[in-house]
Amino acid sequence: MTVRLANARGRAVLVVGEQVVDVERASGGRFGADPMAALAHWDDFAAWAAGVGASAATGALDERALDAPVPRPAKVFAIGLNYKTHAEESKLPLPTKPLVFTKFQNCICGPRADVQLMGSGYVDWEVELVVVIGRRGKAVAEAQALDYVAGFTVGQDISDRKLQFSDQPPQFSMGKSLDTFGPLGPAIVSLDAFADPNDLALTCDVAGERMQSARTSDMVFGVQPLIAYLSGLCTLEPGDIIFTGTPSGVGSAKQPRRYLQPGETIVSAIEGIGTLTNTCV
Ligand code: ZN
Repeated sequence: MTVRLANARGRAVLVVGEQVVDVERASGGRFGADPMAALAHWDDFAAWAAGVGASAATGALDERALDAPVPRPAKVFAIGLNYKTHAEESKLPLPTKPLVFTKFQNCICGPRADVQLMGSGYVDWEVELVVVIGRRGKAVAEAQALDYVAGFTVGQDISDRKLQFSDQPPQFSMGKSLDTFGPLGPAIVSLDAFADPNDLALTCDVAGERMQSARTSDMVFGVQPLIAYLSGLCTLEPGDIIFTGTPSGVGSAKQPRRYLQPGETIVSAIEGIGTLTNTCV
């Protein structure tokens, strides 16, 4: 049965329909309140969680109370130019191997968190499928890669384009790591929820206007190749996350360029997972 793990005011909860099940209470303390602890023991946790039904509910789902389902990932990988359409609109060549950068942990925030523009007029949106690792892995073969995934969630790779390209040579990490530049959620959804985990619709609306609309099947490097590539370089640990790249439709590629303004709301959605609703301040 599908596992939907969320973080309600700092406590791990399973989302069951419109209700939540507090993990620590429902498991009698077998699993703690920290969502990171559930990820650290994902195989055991998922086996237990799959048997938890609505009868164990401890409260109603309040989406406004949700924090990031992976609040403290040890590694936050992100992939640049991983959709052909986005490489084209960026007028950059298609990468021949994954273009990897990092977002620092401080940027992670919840599915309803405010995004702090810090007075910059160059902040842009990027809806992305985020892979959550659930098993330790080194040099994982593509054919086994999905066995190392706890689930998927929705991410926003918020980017200050001026900062991102201000260094010579450019490095992306600081411009994508300011506080609140990594909304995540609303839940980690196990892969059995998806008919084809490599073909999910994703969209991003800003101030009510559809900006991005694509399918994850358009990725240059799909989930399995990314896990094989990254785990060939460094050990993947439970709770590590991978922002898998964004499709076309970012503001910096529009004519004229279009950046986020205070008061605007970003709605980011992926089929079968859910929606992030973040307001810019
Ligand atoms: Zn990105």
